[in-house]
Amino acid sequence: MAKTAFFTHEAFLKHKMGDMNPESPARLEKINELMFASGADDYIEKHTAVRVSLSDMLSAHDPDYIQYLSRMSPQEGVTVINEDTAMNPYTWEAAQFAAGAACAAVDGVMEGRFQRAFCAVRPPGHHAYRDHSGGFCFLNNIAIAALHALGVYHLKRVAVVDFDVHHGDGTSDILGGREDVLILDGFQNALYPYAHLHHCPSNAIYSAFEEGTEGEALRKTMDEVWFPALTDYQPQLILVSAGFDAHREEDQAQLLMIEKDYAFLGRRLVNVMETLPDCKGVVACLEGGYSMSSLSRSSVSFVRQLAS
Ligand SMILES: [Zn+2]
Repeated sequence: MAKTAFFTHEAFLKHKMGDMNPESPARLEKINELMFASGADDYIEKHTAVRVSLSDMLSAHDPDYIQYLSRMSPQEGVTVINEDTAMNPYTWEAAQFAAGAACAAVDGVMEGRFQRAFCAVRPPGHHAYRDHSGGFCFLNNIAIAALHALGVYHLKRVAVVDFDVHHGDGTSDILGGREDVLILDGFQNALYPYAHLHHCPSNAIYSAFEEGTEGEALRKTMDEVWFPALTDYQPQLILVSAGFDAHREEDQAQLLMIEKDYAFLGRRLVNVMETLPDCKGVVACLEGGYSMSSLSRSSVSFVRQLAS
């Protein structure tokens, strides 16, 4: 059995945006708890994240924005960045280790050490734009990983698959329009952050699902639209923004996915990777998922299938 490289770091548990914010350390604690209760040693191999390099951060973000985050990082207490995003003394460090985990996972895949990776990180990344934060995100982990893969390993085609219930607006901002990136993004229509209503980049396929859509319909779209698109594009690496907030138990949205839908996604991504002759692997990074119970069950289902 091919194990999944599982990247984590203690900094991810120290970043906190206030007691009322749903993007909390308990999310990762629950994932880790269930992961190990389910006999994870059989299907994951643990890795400690490393800090992202400045050049990798600057590949995706404006220098002024990086300086701004460093400047806003508080010595104590919480600094509010915008209505749903805030920094405590550990946030800036955690953001750098989250992006660093994604790059280290890409390195592991490109160097042939493993083929599948899951980065259990926070803060998440897909709402981080080139020049501003949003939706609990500071650095765009997936976009940084994509640009790391393109820049360091000279890849020609990288795919980004985003199945978080919210549109990955930051990822489209940073990677939109590039011929060396294909973006497949599925999300609930008419839901935060609303950017998809205005613009879809030339290299993206957006699948907007109406409120109340069942997992079966979601899987059908993925099978009929996403996976053929991946086969056509022939990516050399598949990156995944893995948010689990389309689950039916989530208060954040109104899609109706369940654990077996996430298991399906994990399995199909591995299937597709195995059929693509030039594809080196799949690297997934945690994005959203705020209902503790369904987040842990869904992510464990996904990671188990990645490993199989
Ligand atoms: Zn989300």
